[in-house]
Amino acid sequence: MDRQTCFCGEDGIVFLHYASKHLCEKHFIRMFDKRFRKTVGVHKMLRKNDRVVVGLSGGKDSTVLLHSLAQLKKDLPFELIALTIDEGIKGYRARTLAIAKKECETLGIEQVILGFKKETGKSLDEAMAEEPSEKLPCTHCGVLRRYLLNKGARELKATKLALGHNLDDIAQTVFMNIMRNEPSRLARMNDPILKSARFVPRIRPLMLTPEKENAVYAMLKGIEIEHVECPYARFAFRSHVRRMLNESEERYPGTKFKVVNAFLEIEGALRKKYSKGAKMIFCSSCGEPSSQKICMYCKRVYS
Ligand code: SF4
Repeated sequence: MDRQTCFCGEDGIVFLHYASKHLCEKHFIRMFDKRFRKTVGVHKMLRKNDRVVVGLSGGKDSTVLLHSLAQLKKDLPFELIALTIDEGIKGYRARTLAIAKKECETLGIEQVILGFKKETGKSLDEAMAEEPSEKLPCTHCGVLRRYLLNKGARELKATKLALGHNLDDIAQTVFMNIMRNEPSRLARMNDPILKSARFVPRIRPLMLTPEKENAVYAMLKGIEIEHVECPYARFAFRSHVRRMLNESEERYPGTKFKVVNAFLEIEGALRKKYSKGAKMIFCSSCGEPSSQKICMYCKRVYS
């Protein structure tokens, strides 16, 4: 059998370096869908009649997530709603917003949009123009977006908030937390340590799917994807970690899977350690759960 042939004898269209195998279109899609369902099942992400809010940016990962959940919904009854956050990033967000809107229309899924400008008084561009040296764009953006996603999902009465983070994202976050010496963040990476009715449980059904495979799947399934990168991404520590991990993956295929699997193995022990003595605090300004008297969102928006 030729090296570039799928096990079925058809021409391979994708090479899975970490598994040393070529797959044809049919078997790649089959493998992708199977892994998606297995991840959801093994990690007990969904239950019958869940009300799932998908954080839909319109980027490839969240759009593929929406499609895969819409497909799964045919076999497992649950509700699906999309929640899009418009950060207000000129020349970038408008294009992905258009894709998100179109995908929701095509799939017949209700979409709710929350904007930084409307919710906080300033778009991300405006906040950055005012205090360029004070606020790192991705840190500011991440704090506001996480807050609005949780609040928005809760107001939509979601029982789960589904996020499009892929294998690469998770491996990067694991490394970032280690490189910053923040093991307590590792412990609460997947879910907050303390439960509160104000936190909507988050699920990441693509956490074992490499980023590149999301792109291939989107292409094969005719899902529109946008290749433009956020103009602030170059400032991010994540970009450095991404390059480092991509280099390691190139040399040692399977590195990203190993990092994420190692994290999943120690996650329980970390959660146990950091849950000891942990006390829930509520922000004295907005009432949301927080690790400090005033939460990061209120500090950034109101001070
Ligand atoms: Fe926000 Fe940074 Fe992502 Fe841009 S790259 S959307 S600023 S987190």
